[in-house]
Amino acid sequence: MKIERKILLNPGPATTTDSVKMAQVVPDICPREREFTEMLAGIRSDLVRIVHGSQEKYTAVLFCGSGTINMDVCLNSLLPEGKKVLVINNGAYSQRAADICEYYGLDCISLEFEFDRQPELALIEKKLAENPDIALVYATHHETGTGLLNPVKEIGEIVHRYGAVFIVDTTSSYAMIPIDMERDNIDFCMASAQKGLMAMTGLSFVIGNRELIERSADYPKRSYYCNLYMQYEFFKKTGEMHFTPPVQSIYAVRQALDEYWAEGEERKWQRHTRVYKEICKGLDHMGFRRLLREDQQSGLVAAVRYPADFRWNFEEIHDYCYAHGFTIYPGKISGTDTFRLCALGAIDDSDIRDFFVVFKEAVDRLGIKIPVRYGGERDGR
Ligand SMILES: *Cc1c(COP(=O)(O)O)cnc(C)c1O
Repeated sequence: MKIERKILLNPGPATTTDSVKMAQVVPDICPREREFTEMLAGIRSDLVRIVHGSQEKYTAVLFCGSGTINMDVCLNSLLPEGKKVLVINNGAYSQRAADICEYYGLDCISLEFEFDRQPELALIEKKLAENPDIALVYATHHETGTGLLNPVKEIGEIVHRYGAVFIVDTTSSYAMIPIDMERDNIDFCMASAQKGLMAMTGLSFVIGNRELIERSADYPKRSYYCNLYMQYEFFKKTGEMHFTPPVQSIYAVRQALDEYWAEGEERKWQRHTRVYKEICKGLDHMGFRRLLREDQQSGLVAAVRYPADFRWNFEEIHDYCYAHGFTIYPGKISGTDTFRLCALGAIDDSDIRDFFVVFKEAVDRLGIKIPVRYGGERDGR
C-alpha cells in the first residue's frame, strides 16, 4: 500500500514513516492479554532509556490522551497538602500549566518572564528563598510557541538546592534534543508519542522518579482519571494501563522506538539540526526575520515575523502550501504576528528545499517582492 507523503512543518503531530503507519494494522487483540502487556513493559523501559534514566530509579507511566494530559497528571498528583507550586512562565505552554493549577485550585506562583528570552535564574532562586513552602517547580524545556529553549539543568540545580521536586515539560524536545534525567536535574519529564518519537497520537507518558511517585500515594487526590500514583500502582501490580489503552497507537510506538534506536540519539538530533538549518537558510534567502536570537533557540522551531506588506496573507500561503503537500502553522504569541516552521518528524533537509520552492511560489502569487520587507526598525534576530 502506497500512502501519499505529506510534510508536516507544524509543531506536531509530525510526519511519520510508512512503517510506523502500517504497524497499526494488526490482528484484533484484547489489551489485557500477556502478549500486549509484555509489549507495554518493553515500551516503558525504552521510554526511560531514551532519557538515560536507570530502570531502578525511574519509571514510565503511560496515559491515553494528548500531551496536555501529562501536564495535568503531574501538577494535580505531585503537590503535597498545604504546599505551593512554582511555574516558570515564559510562553504559551507554561501558561497552560499555570491555568491547570488554577483549575485545580492549587496554590501556584506563576513567575512570568518575557516570552522571547530565557528566565533569570537569580529571580527563580529568590522566589524559592522567599517561599520555603514551594514543593514543586515546573518548567517547559522547549516552548514550542516561540522555539525558546529553557536552561533546565541550571534551573533544576537551584530547585534541588531548595529541596523541591522539578517537573519539566519535555513534550517538544523528548527523543530529539538529548536529555539525561540525572545530568539535567529532572525528576519528572513527559512527552506524547506523536512528536519526537514520530509515532501516532493517543499515547502520552510521564517519566519520573519511582521514590517520589511512591511518596505521592497519600497526597490529595484531585482527579480520578489523571492520578499519577493510581496509574503507577496499577502498572506495578498488573503491567497494564488501568483503563483501555490506545491499542493501535501503541503498536505504532513499538515500531517508532525500534526506528529510534536504529537511527540513534545523536544521528537523529543531527538530522533535526540539519532540517532546522535548512529552514533558517531558506528564510534568510527570502529576507524573513525570525523572532528569537539564535542563542535562545531550541533548533526545532523557527517562529517567523510577518513581513510588513499589506499583501501578506498567511491563510492563502498556508492553503497553497497545503495543496502542494506542505503544512505550515500559525504562531502562538499574543501581540506579535508570527508563523512557524518546525523541524520535527521523519523529514530531512531535501524536504525543506522542496518546501521552499512551493513557499516562494505562494509568496510570489500574492505579488510580494522577495526579499520581503519589514518596517523601519531593524530589530535583532
Ligand atoms: C505539544 C505540546 C504539549 C501538548 O499539547 P497537546 O495539544 O495536548 O498535544 C505540551 N507541551 C508542549 C511544550 C508541547 O509542545
